Amino acid sequence: MNNCIVFTNWKMNKTLTETEEFFKKLVELHGDRRGLELIMCIPSLYIGSVASLCRGSSIRVGSENIYPGNWGAYTGEISAPMLASVGCEVALIGHSERRKYFHEDDELVGRKLKSALEHGIFPIVCIGETREERDAGRMFSVLERQVETCFQCLTTENRLHIAYEPRWAIGTGVIPEYPEIEEAHRFIREEIVKRYGTAFSTNISLLYGGSVSPENSFAICSLEHVDGVGYGGCSLDLDCLSRGIEESIRAFRDNHPLPPA
Ligand code: PEP
Repeated sequence: MNNCIVFTNWKMNKTLTETEEFFKKLVELHGDRRGLELIMCIPSLYIGSVASLCRGSSIRVGSENIYPGNWGAYTGEISAPMLASVGCEVALIGHSERRKYFHEDDELVGRKLKSALEHGIFPIVCIGETREERDAGRMFSVLERQVETCFQCLTTENRLHIAYEPRWAIGTGVIPEYPEIEEAHRFIREEIVKRYGTAFSTNISLLYGGSVSPENSFAICSLEHVDGVGYGGCSLDLDCLSRGIEESIRAFRDNHPLPPA
């Protein structure tokens, strides 16, 4: 695992003009960085235009959601084949705000995952406990249930990223203690190995998301079992995202030396 993985989640922000200006600069700065896998999850509306701007770079463009069916009378929804047709390569699935505001459960997340995989969209599946679940000592049982239910469709050919995003850490500026992040990632890794075996487990990268900033990304990316990070609020600001990317790459370079060029 030599690349540091960085993904973003812009949520419901920016106009098309702001988005295009941002991406023109982003491609110049980070369009061809060795040791970095950069995935920009942005509002679906802008993906077609942004995919054109990113063509020829190593930046992958993703959606923040996906509908678990192909076509039909589902007003306002956007399916995997529609996303793929505008150059979307990745989809964020099961984000905590989808779970909180749109009542998405693990079973629905599993169906979205299946649809993404069927249409060649690379999935980043978000899991993580609420504050109440953590305080009640149920963090591990929640993660176990999520791994069991969300990933039922997986076959040994599939590849995906899993983002551990404790729901209480998103947008709050509060993160778990570093050993707690490592412990959660180790637990998820063990659950994957238990269910799918060690060989398949290498198809899955584990990312941490929730109040990641340039100040804490070096420490988080240095943790064992952490293959990268997700930036939400910070990613709306190019300077913040760039500093975060530098810190993530630096941590990865220090902890996972690259092979010779
Ligand atoms: C997110 O929404 O996935 C996220 C990581 O947000 P933030 O960085 O703002 O906590």
